Amino acid sequence: MPRKPKACIYCSQGFGGTSDHVPPRGFYPSNPPANLITVPCCEKCRVRDSEHDEFIRNLFISFDVTEPHQSIESELSDTRRRSFENAPSKANRLLEITGEVPDGRKAFTLDIPEVDRFLERVCRAVLFDAFRQPYFEASFNWTKESPFLPVEEQQIQNAFKIAPPECRQKQIADFFSYVAVPADDTNIRFVVLSFYNGLFVMGRFTLLPGRPKIELCSPRKRSRR
Ligand SMILES: [Zn+2]
Repeated sequence: MPRKPKACIYCSQGFGGTSDHVPPRGFYPSNPPANLITVPCCEKCRVRDSEHDEFIRNLFISFDVTEPHQSIESELSDTRRRSFENAPSKANRLLEITGEVPDGRKAFTLDIPEVDRFLERVCRAVLFDAFRQPYFEASFNWTKESPFLPVEEQQIQNAFKIAPPECRQKQIADFFSYVAVPADDTNIRFVVLSFYNGLFVMGRFTLLPGRPKIELCSPRKRSRR
């Protein structure tokens, strides 16, 4: 068994003595699958990040592409309703970022700091789960679909079907799955995520230029699990 790293995988500053569930427990129904992902993090990061878990969950289960998911229809939509009743400010935050697209469907502005932070956290956790990748300094951005490139989301979905064998994949029932691309010679690392088998996101880390070269784990160095 590999030793657990001592450093938090989100900041490297704190002691990674706490386990963070990624995606958070609240993303699952009350009877979740057994193979949930946990990663070591510090108490400070856990407290900071979990503050927005409920809001992000409410957002992610509210898309046209996720609402028909069986567990959302049967349980999580009730959880969301109670969450709105208990914390109206969280419902208001969702309204703040709600807009309409021309055909009358609702749409959400995802270009908000809460989503940026959440997806960076999930992608870092995925790289740890897949390759035991510790914290590394990088800028992070992500893409879902672009109004100018409607084909993009389709391509992101295809990553699950055509990922080369050196990629790591994991599926947690149909709640969450990922494809993690191993390190190569470039300064970029990709992670593809699927939430509720409907919301597809690609996250991208770009190593910061001019920083000391840090070692990115590759599958060959990965210890047996
Ligand atoms: Zn931390």
